[in-house]
Amino acid sequence: MAQYQDHMLILKSRPYRESDALITAFGLKSGKIGAIAKGTRRAKNRLAGLYPLSYTVCEIYHGRSNLDTITGTDLVEGFSGMRQDLSRLSWGMLLADLVDEMWEERDAAPAVFPWVVGGWEGLAQGANALTITLTACWHLLQLAGYYPQWETCEVCGRVPDDGPVALDLVHDRLYCTRHRPGDDHLVSVFLGTWRTWRRWMELDVNRLGQYEAKGAIGAQIFTVFRRYVQSHIGRLPRSLQFLQEVENIGVEGEDLTT
Ligand SMILES: [Zn+2]
Repeated sequence: MAQYQDHMLILKSRPYRESDALITAFGLKSGKIGAIAKGTRRAKNRLAGLYPLSYTVCEIYHGRSNLDTITGTDLVEGFSGMRQDLSRLSWGMLLADLVDEMWEERDAAPAVFPWVVGGWEGLAQGANALTITLTACWHLLQLAGYYPQWETCEVCGRVPDDGPVALDLVHDRLYCTRHRPGDDHLVSVFLGTWRTWRRWMELDVNRLGQYEAKGAIGAQIFTVFRRYVQSHIGRLPRSLQFLQEVENIGVEGEDLTT
């Protein structure tokens, strides 16, 4: 039993008992935790500033139960520009959902932190939401151990210089336009779509937001991400479904270039 302090990304909050909240947070040192925040739903409460999609330094009591108790908070960044816009908020939720989905409780992964903070900052500042969020999401997948080898053609070993490029979403392989087999889990994208993805994966977090994906390229990268998550994780985060249905991003079919 101990009191500790950690930098926390607040991923989720839901009502708990009469006036408390059950918080899912991701700590820089502690990884994902579940914690009770007492009295947050009363108007006057010192934890009233604790809300989802924010970055807060928390004082936490770790008792005998699995659930910790948040006893104090000091907001670092609330990303207000992100929560004023439903679309940006949905992209921000996708980052929170992905972290919640991919990491087990108490599995420390400090490298996650800057990608989420960088993503939320970019969304708050009005950067291209799809580019910022999906770049961070692909890097988060990589940190979780999912990194498709989409670099050279599986058959000829060459770096594609012509499109379309076929991506295998199950076996993580790539085929150039001449060697595309007839498998049904392949998806064809523009050369420019694949190149944009490659450039994103070479970025460090300080350059998050570079190489904007617009129009058809953005739609293709979104679709590849959604299907990759479905293929490897099996579930789609709710925010990803929301973005697909409400924002109407993405394309159908196997050949995304038509
Ligand atoms: Zn080839």
